[in-house]
Amino acid sequence: MLSGKQPILILKEGTERERGRDAQGNNIRAAMAIADAVRSTLGPKGMDKMLVDSMGDVVITNDGATILKEIDIEHPAAKMVVEIAKTQDEECGDGTTTAVVLAGELLKSAQELIEQNVHPTTIVEGYRMANEKACEIINKIAEKVTPNDEKILRKIAETAMTGKTAAYNRELLAEIAYKAVKAVAEKEGKVITVDLDNIKVEKKQGGSIKDTELINGINIDKERVHSGMPKSVKNAKILLINQALEVKKTEVDAQIRIDDPSQLQKFLDEEEKMLKTYVKKIKESGATVVICQKGIDDLAQHYLAKEKIFAVRRAKKSDMEKLSKATGGTIVSEIHEIPKSELGYAGLVEERKIGEDEMVFVTNCKEAKAVSILIRGGTEHVVDEIERGLHDALSVIGIAIRTGKMTAGGGSAAIEISMGLQDYAGTIGGREQMAIEAFANAIESIPRALANNAGLDAIDMLLKLRQAHKKDQKSYGIDVNKGDISNMKTQNILEPATVNIQAIRSATEGAVMILRIDDVIAAKGGPGGGGGGMPPGGMGGMGGMPPEM
Ligand code: ADP
Ligand code: MG
Repeated sequence: MLSGKQPILILKEGTERERGRDAQGNNIRAAMAIADAVRSTLGPKGMDKMLVDSMGDVVITNDGATILKEIDIEHPAAKMVVEIAKTQDEECGDGTTTAVVLAGELLKSAQELIEQNVHPTTIVEGYRMANEKACEIINKIAEKVTPNDEKILRKIAETAMTGKTAAYNRELLAEIAYKAVKAVAEKEGKVITVDLDNIKVEKKQGGSIKDTELINGINIDKERVHSGMPKSVKNAKILLINQALEVKKTEVDAQIRIDDPSQLQKFLDEEEKMLKTYVKKIKESGATVVICQKGIDDLAQHYLAKEKIFAVRRAKKSDMEKLSKATGGTIVSEIHEIPKSELGYAGLVEERKIGEDEMVFVTNCKEAKAVSILIRGGTEHVVDEIERGLHDALSVIGIAIRTGKMTAGGGSAAIEISMGLQDYAGTIGGREQMAIEAFANAIESIPRALANNAGLDAIDMLLKLRQAHKKDQKSYGIDVNKGDISNMKTQNILEPATVNIQAIRSATEGAVMILRIDDVIAAKGGPGGGGGGMPPGGMGGMGGMPPEM
């Protein structure tokens, strides 16, 4: 044996270290604190949070992902919970609060098992088994939904918006969201893809939420370049170009020496001729609208206006791509002979005043594969919250169309899972059984929170729900309006099955990752260093975590 009597120091002086149960206990408490912070926002009767940043800017929201994005979190384990919300948001765009609340509850249950001397590895194993089983159960109770089930898909969107500012106008917003997703959905064989990037969401403060509209095409935050141009063009043939309508500047700083005034005139004439040729070619192509990604020279603007061609300059690259998808035009990079087939089409291109500003609407497209939604609302806060609600609505319709599966909401699926897991646990035996039972308990935190947030007696509601589900009333959940349980399916409280599957998966993975840590080694002077009731420490990033989960 090489080890001597003296302890060997391997860590730099000042490094803080927590081990074993201390480390676990602190991590679990920090993660639970995050879950506690968002629990009260869950569900239709969830409350809002007002967040004030260090600059004094205020955000009022009910959206779990937004809350966790806005608050400064220091503890490394708490940060991992925020990651859970982020993953959920990226994968589904909804179900973030559910995932975080569930992760907190899984950790709380794990803590109790650890205190009973169940080894974290056993808990991890049991949780993983329970996770698999839970997904199986969801898939079993899930029902089919197709892209043409407009009514159902709109209800799914409405469910996602309940409890948020958007909910007061959920019918209108759900209709807009459905039409937008339907427009951009593409079918290849049996696979349906939905790329939400093809839906451009533009906000303009002012007016009322009811003025929020779907544009069958794209709107851009620009005005036409010249007041002599028409304000609107019907049956527009649109040229999309990413080259400047200017005389090319030399690459190097060249000087042109002119000795005689006539030479200057010749030089200017040459420039003028070139711009005239550009406009002539555009005119010959039959284009009545030009949307240019780069600049348009004053003189060219003048010639275009003379030809009654509507033109916009310096459009964003992302807008150019969407315009191409919406109008069917090709983005041209050089002005030469422009074949008609490269031009896009829109029934109407017009400049309209929205609030204080002029905007250009490229609308009434034939088969727009990219569309815009223009959000209106009284204040900046309202417009922002509507945007978040609409984001959830678009996400859930997209997922439901892609995956074709839905379940009833209101905690009904959670009860099915919980009861199914209890049965399953009995077949496993051993200590894993305890972990699976703990998982079953933890998942009931969802209906429990829905009931609590609605001011209902959670114990009462859970007892009633279990009774109903035992009688095979699989869709019974918390009816917050009635203050009782009822059939969520007939109430049209519906959600994509995948949102729940992903929420359970993200929560399990996050909880497992935290449970496997038994040693926290924090470098001196790492970020933070404790405070705000959090235990000391703070590792730079997430390094040092076990690579596999
Ligand atoms: P998340 O961030 O997890 O999506 P939400 O605040 O959006 O959190 O709440 C979602 C939960 O609220 C889901 O469990 C959903 O089934 C439930 N829910 C939504 N609308 C209703 C309703 N009208 N009645 C009961 N439960 C509802
Ligand atoms: Mg939601």
